[in-house]
Amino acid sequence: MPGDAMRERDGEKGGWLARRLLWAVAEAPPERYRLQVRADLLDETLKLANISAVTHFAVAVVLPILFWDTASRLYLAGLFAVVTMIIGLTLYTNRLYRRRYADGVSEVGVALGYRISAGLALALGLTWATMPIMLFAPASNDQRLIIVATAAGLISDAYVVGPLLSVSFLFAVPLILGSFVGLARSGEGIALSIGVLLVVYAIFVLASVARMSRLSLERIHDRVRVEDQGQTIGLLLNEFEANTSDWLWETDEAGGLQHVSARMAQALGRTEEDLHSTSLATLLGGGAPGDDGMAEILACLAAREPFREKLVAFTEGEGLRWLRLSGKPFQDRRGAFAGFRGVGSDVTASRAAEERIAYLATRDALTGLSNRAVFRDIAQTACRAAAAPGGTPKSLLYLDLDGFKLVNDSAGHGAGDALLRQVADRIRAVTAAAPSAHGFRLGGDEFAILHRGPVEAAEALAQACVAALGEPYWIDGVRAEIGVSVGLAHAPRDATDPESLLRKADLALYTAKESGKGRWHAFDASLERRAQRHRELDAAMRPALENGEMALHYQPLVSLADEHVVGFEALLRWTRPGEGAVSPAETVPIAESTGFVIEIGRWALRTACAEAAGWPEALRVAVNISSIHFRLPGFVAEVEAALQATGLAPNRLEIEITETIFLGSTPSVIENLRRLRASGVRIALDDFGTGFSSLSYLTQFPVDKIKIDRAFVRDLIHRRECLTVIEAIMVIARDLAIDVTVEGVETVQQAELLRLKRCNSAQGFLYSPARPAREVPGLIESIPLKARRALPPQASAA
Ligand code: C2E
Ligand code: CA
Ligand code: CA
Repeated sequence: MPGDAMRERDGEKGGWLARRLLWAVAEAPPERYRLQVRADLLDETLKLANISAVTHFAVAVVLPILFWDTASRLYLAGLFAVVTMIIGLTLYTNRLYRRRYADGVSEVGVALGYRISAGLALALGLTWATMPIMLFAPASNDQRLIIVATAAGLISDAYVVGPLLSVSFLFAVPLILGSFVGLARSGEGIALSIGVLLVVYAIFVLASVARMSRLSLERIHDRVRVEDQGQTIGLLLNEFEANTSDWLWETDEAGGLQHVSARMAQALGRTEEDLHSTSLATLLGGGAPGDDGMAEILACLAAREPFREKLVAFTEGEGLRWLRLSGKPFQDRRGAFAGFRGVGSDVTASRAAEERIAYLATRDALTGLSNRAVFRDIAQTACRAAAAPGGTPKSLLYLDLDGFKLVNDSAGHGAGDALLRQVADRIRAVTAAAPSAHGFRLGGDEFAILHRGPVEAAEALAQACVAALGEPYWIDGVRAEIGVSVGLAHAPRDATDPESLLRKADLALYTAKESGKGRWHAFDASLERRAQRHRELDAAMRPALENGEMALHYQPLVSLADEHVVGFEALLRWTRPGEGAVSPAETVPIAESTGFVIEIGRWALRTACAEAAGWPEALRVAVNISSIHFRLPGFVAEVEAALQATGLAPNRLEIEITETIFLGSTPSVIENLRRLRASGVRIALDDFGTGFSSLSYLTQFPVDKIKIDRAFVRDLIHRRECLTVIEAIMVIARDLAIDVTVEGVETVQQAELLRLKRCNSAQGFLYSPARPAREVPGLIESIPLKARRALPPQASAA
C-alpha cells in the first residue's frame, strides 16, 4: 500500500511538473520572441552573406575568363556586371542595416531586411540561372564539367542563406530550374543522366536546408528565450539585492567567496576585491569570539550541511555588526559538492531595535527603574533561592510615598513626574550603597527594593530609605516635602512566594502608614490576624446594619458654665452576636476604606434626628460624618430629607467633620458647608489639634464649633504646652465667634481648668460615656447633680 501511495504521489508530482512546464510554455508563447528570433535569423544570414558575396564575385570573375573565347562576350560581360552589382548592393544594404539597427531591432527594420534579402536572393538566383541556359549547350565536355560543378556549387550556397528558408529557396529554385533548362536544351543522353542526379541533389539540398532552417529557428528561439529569462532572473536578483538589506553569496568547493555584491562588502567592512576568494570560514573566524551562531555555521560549513538564519556578531571598524546568514551546499553536474550558496543580511539596526524594545519592556519609562514585570520575575527567583536549604534570606521593602498626591494635585503632573524621578535617583543611591539591593517602580508612587542578606541589614536599608526620601526636594526652584512609609517582609521567614511576600510587605506598609507615616514597619503575624479580622468585619458589616446589630449611643455635651447638658453626640455601637461590642475605632476605618461608611452615615443621620426629635427643644444632637460622605454633591439633600422626615429643627443638628475634609478640597465641600450653615445646621470640626491642624483653615472654611481632641486634655495638668495650645485656640475662636468643646474630660481638675480658660462645653467620662437612647432623659436629669457632687464644695459654691 505505501508503495502504491508513493507511486500515486510521484505520479501526481510528475503531473504537477508537466503542468508547470505547460504553464511556463503558455506563459512565454513563441509570439513573444518572434521579432527577436526573426531579427537573429536575418542577422545570422547577413553575417554569412558577406563571405558568400566574395565567393560569388570570384565565380563571376573566373567564369567569363574560362568561357571568353567560346561564349558570347556580351553575355559574359553582362553576367559579370549584374552579379557584381547585386553583390555590391548586398554588401551595401548589409552594412546599412547593421549600422541602422545596431542598438536594437524594429518590426519595420526586420521586415524590410527580409524583403531586400529576398529580392537580392531572387535576383542573384535568376541571374545565375541564365548561366547553364546560355553556356551548357554550346560548351565542350570539359567546359560542361565546369558548368555542372559551378551550378552544383552555387546551389549549395542555399546553405549559406539557409537560416532564412524563403530567401534560400528564392535563390536556389531558379538556379535548379535554370540548370534543367540548360541540360534539356543540349538534348543529349548524358545530360538526362546528369539531370536525374541534379534532381536528387536538389531535393537533398532543399530538404536539408529546410531542416537546417528549422534547427536554426529552434536554436535561435531557445537562445532568445534563455537570454530573456536570464535577463528576468538577473532583473529579479538585482531587484532583490537593491531592495532588501539581503545579499546573495556563493563559495566554491574550497570555501572561497565567488559572488560578492557591493552590499555584502559594505556589511563586512571590506572591499569587493578583498572579499573575492577569501574563505567564508576565515572571514567569520575573524568575528567576535564566543558567539554560538558562528560556531554552528563553521560546523555546518565543515560538514557541508545547510544552516538557516544564524546570527553572527562581526567586529567592524567602530563597532559590532550583526549578520544573519543562511546557506546550503550545492552540487555540480556530476553531483559532486561544488560549494555553498546562501543569503546574508545585516541585521544590526533591527537587533539594536530589538534590544531597545527588550530594554524598554523591563524599564519604567519615567524613572528608568526596573518595572513591575521584572519585579515579578526577580522576586520569583529570589523567593525560590531563599527557600532552598542554606539559602540567603531575601527581604522585600515596599515603599509608598507620603503626601505625593498633594504635590501632584497642587503643583501639577509635570512637577509630580520630576519628583518621582528624584525619588528614583535617591532609591538608586541608597541601593547602590547597600550591596545586593535592587530597586523597582511598581507603579504610581509605589516602589520596591529587593534585598539579599541578613534581616538586620534590610532593616537598616529601610531606615536609610526613610531618611533619604524624607529630605526636602527642589523642583524648578520650589521646595517640596514628602516622606516615605516602608513595609518590610522577609523570605523565607514570612513568605516563600512573591505574591504572599508582597501582600505581607503591603500589610506592614499599611501599619507603617497608620502609625504615623514616614517610618518603616516589619511584617509580623499579628498583622496577618488584623488583616483577617479586617476582611471578616468588612463582610459582616452590611448584614449587621440591616439586621439591627448596630445602634447609636449618646454621650452628653455639658456646658462648662452651668454644668447642664446642652446636647448629645451620637456614637456608633455594634454588638456582634457571640462576640459583643465592636469598637467604632475598629469599624469606622474599615468602613471608610470600602465606602460603606456612607451607608452608616445616612443611617446615623436618620436615626439620630428621629431620636433627638423627642428630646427637650434646647438639646442638640451631633452626628459624625466621614469626609468621603460629606464630599458627595447630594449630601445636603440627604440632611434636609432627614430633618424633614423627623421634624427636627435644623439648628438642633450638628455635623461633626474632621480636617481631612480640607485635603484636596473640592468645590462641593465648600458648597456643602455653605448651604448647610445657611439652612441653620451647625458644623463642628472634630479632633482638632491632631494631624495637620492649622488654624488658617478656620478663616478659609467657616465652622460653628471646634472640638479639641482629648489628647490635649489628657496631659493638661502635666504638660504646660497643652494648656498653651488650648489658650491659643481660645483666642482665635473668640475672634471668629466659634464655640469650643473639649473632649475626653475625665477629672474635675481638668473640667475646672477648662472652665477657667472659658471653653464653652466639655464631653467625657467625668459626665458620662455614650449611653443608649433610652437613658438620655436620665442623663439630662442626673448630670448637673453628678458634676456638682464631684466638684469640691468651694468650686460648686462659686
Ligand atoms: P470621636 O468622634 O472623637 O468620638 C469620641 C470618642 O471618644 C468616642 O469613642 C468616645 O467614646 C470617646 N470618649 C468620650 N469621652 C472619653 C473620655 O473621657 N475618655 C476617653 N478615653 N474616651 C472618651 P468611640 O465611641 O469609640 O468612637 C471612636 C471614633 O469612631 C469617634 O471618635 C469617631 O471618629 C468614630 N465614630 C463613632 N461613631 C461614628 C459614626 O456614627 N460615624 C462616623 N463616621 N464615625 C463614628
Ligand atoms: Ca466626634
Ligand atoms: Ca473627637
